[in-house]
Amino acid sequence: MNLSLVDPRVEAKGFLLPFLAAIRFLFFRKQTPKQTFFYTPPGNVPLVQAPSRTERSNTRLFALSPEGAGFVPLASLSIPALKKDNRFFMENVIIIGSGCAGWTAAIYCARANLAPLVVTGIQPGGLLATTTLVENFPGFPEGILGPDLMLAMQKQAERFGAKIQYLSEVTEVHLDPPPFSVRVNGQIWHTRALIIAVGAQPRRLGVPGEKEWEGKGVTYCATCDGALPMFRNQPLVVVGGGDSACEEALYLTRFASQVYLIHRRDRLRASKIMADRALGHPKIQPIWNTVVEAVLGEKNQVCAVELKNTQTGQTSKLDCAGVFVAIGHVPNTRLFEGKLELDPDGYIRVFQGTRTSVPGVFAAGDCVDRIYRQAITAAGMGCMAAMDAERYLSGSGS
Ligand SMILES: Cc1cc2nc3c(=O)[nH]c(=O)nc-3n(C[C@H](O)[C@H](O)[C@H](O)COP(=O)(O)OP(=O)(O)OC[C@H]3O[C@@H](n4cnc5c(N)ncnc54)[C@H](O)[C@@H]3O)c2cc1C
Repeated sequence: MNLSLVDPRVEAKGFLLPFLAAIRFLFFRKQTPKQTFFYTPPGNVPLVQAPSRTERSNTRLFALSPEGAGFVPLASLSIPALKKDNRFFMENVIIIGSGCAGWTAAIYCARANLAPLVVTGIQPGGLLATTTLVENFPGFPEGILGPDLMLAMQKQAERFGAKIQYLSEVTEVHLDPPPFSVRVNGQIWHTRALIIAVGAQPRRLGVPGEKEWEGKGVTYCATCDGALPMFRNQPLVVVGGGDSACEEALYLTRFASQVYLIHRRDRLRASKIMADRALGHPKIQPIWNTVVEAVLGEKNQVCAVELKNTQTGQTSKLDCAGVFVAIGHVPNTRLFEGKLELDPDGYIRVFQGTRTSVPGVFAAGDCVDRIYRQAITAAGMGCMAAMDAERYLSGSGS
């Protein structure tokens, strides 16, 4: 008698599982989008795929000029020139910037199977990665450290297939009809769609102590930091004379014992309604014709500012627990001057969501938004840009 030691059900399972796995692999695996990917690396790295004849005759594809000084049409280069010092990469979507807007766009694009390439810039994680406790990002009842939040966003994007050019900057863009070209670390990348999420930098005072006490009393966002325990029932200083400065000062009256509004002129630059509101508030005291010369701190927090009267030259010291700098922001958009429609202050103009003046190019976050400038609004716009890009790509048949 032939006795089998294996339970027939187990035996059947042993056959079934690889069979099911094969079916799953053949029919249900996630399709990675086809990438036209060709390059001729320099030196002795093997040629992966040379541009085809059609690609080489395409005057819309650009290559690094043999001198490395700019873009030249791929069509104008001979094969030896291509082999010598040009590489070509074609992507579905390139995302410039890795702040809240960039990583959120990356999560959405990656989940849409677009395998986006994120160029992080020299500040991976963006502005929020430079701060400490973030108390107003939804989902974290106890708050979360800025760097932790940004790392979590990066991991989430990577998990779905986002590719990263870490600590790399885009130094040149070519936004003629798509495909677009960007230069990253001397390489040229082509992309069918582009999402710009380069953020904006707050203007700094540039005085001694400002950098040293940043995050320990010096801040650039009242909405973000005003409610922190360190500022409650304390005298606070706001520097600036525009609408933002008035808004920040008014916001801080909810927490501060007194708000000093320091302005270098003898009247505010703000709109009349904002100026009237700020100057009429019992907790706000303007200090005219005055500049901050230094920020002082002791133990672990700001304790005072040194002031100078611009008319008399007289110096003084003012005790305070925080310095809120509200002298404006500079969007990081110089790269796009003359290539995209920008407003007079350099913010990228968007239409119908996140579409810029060039079809196929989308913009999100603080480089677009001069009003809200919050992590959550930047993230929201990143999501919108990804969805707009995805629709654009499916509409354009890419
Ligand atoms: C000190 C501080 C504290 C803050 N705290 C809070 C808070 O508690 N809560 C809150 O909601 N908001 C806070 N904010 C505001 C918040 O940080 C911003 O609104 C948010 O970071 C904007 O995100 P973003 O993606 O648009 O731009 P950013 O975060 O500014 O990111 C821009 C990204 O673009 C990259 N980049 C720029 N140029 C290039 C280039 N040429 N090539 C490649 N990459 C490039 C940079 O490296 C960076 O990764 C704070 C801001 C500051 C300054």
